[in-house]
Amino acid sequence: MIVIKPQVLVPEGQLDEGLLRRLERYTRVCYKSEDRMGDEFNPDFLKSKVAIGHESVIEHEKATVMFIVDRGVTHEIVRHRIASYSQESTRYCNYSRDKFGNEITVIEPYFFSGEAYETWAGGCLAAEKAYLALLRQGCSAQEARSVLPNSLKTELVTTYNMREWRHFFNLRCSAAAHPQMRQAAIPLLKLFQQRLPALFEDVPCDTNFPVEHYAEVVITDDLFNPLSTIGISGR
Ligand SMILES: Cc1cc2nc3c(=O)[nH]c(=O)nc-3n(C[C@H](O)[C@H](O)[C@H](O)COP(=O)(O)OP(=O)(O)OC[C@H]3O[C@@H](n4cnc5c(N)ncnc54)[C@H](O)[C@@H]3O)c2cc1C
Repeated sequence: MIVIKPQVLVPEGQLDEGLLRRLERYTRVCYKSEDRMGDEFNPDFLKSKVAIGHESVIEHEKATVMFIVDRGVTHEIVRHRIASYSQESTRYCNYSRDKFGNEITVIEPYFFSGEAYETWAGGCLAAEKAYLALLRQGCSAQEARSVLPNSLKTELVTTYNMREWRHFFNLRCSAAAHPQMRQAAIPLLKLFQQRLPALFEDVPCDTNFPVEHYAEVVITDDLFNPLSTIGISGR
């Protein structure tokens, strides 16, 4: 059993500042104020529209990221319906195969330590043992998955438009959200706030979430090949 920490992969081009200028242009059609566009993007114009609830204008632009988290977290993410998703399938992936290392991979819950950590790890190992036994007994991967744990690592490519990202962050960075959801959502929000402040700087988040447990946010190329890791800090 491989134990890893969660990550969020963000292709460099997805948060390109050019999208802000395009949104300003699209929005100005409503007011026929194209003539008031300057050489630079005007953040106050877009912010004022979002602030009065004229939010449909930011639906024209989208961003795609990949969450590498456990299946409990992705089960919650996919409840957001104005979205497109592609998820690693436990029907088609057989973790006894060489390409998976002949074992399952799980996401380490950051909140366990000592005896509780041992109990969690033991539970996952028992699940893995049963899964591999079912496969040896002739069951298919989609049948054997019945015993896989919630902690199973999964990859979820997620596409939302900017309005949906705001909605997602509002719900999933709040103190009411599951801790492992906040672990991935808060550092991702901070990246969105850095790159696209006009759209995200007003979105609140749980400021008490421990920064040392933030999921790693990795900047990638368009095909999710890593380029660099972003150091996200609390503010
Ligand atoms: C803290 C927390 C606890 C939760 N606990 C539970 C739980 O115990 N059990 C459970 O089942 N779920 C739970 N959920 C999931 C929750 O009920 C939503 O399914 C999930 O958050 C998706 O949010 P949404 O429906 O607002 O947004 P999205 O699906 O992202 O949609 C965005 C917005 O579009 C609009 N919209 C979308 N579809 C419709 C529609 N059909 N009709 C009208 N308007 C629509 C709404 O304004 C909606 O807010 C929880 C969520 C959170 C954040």
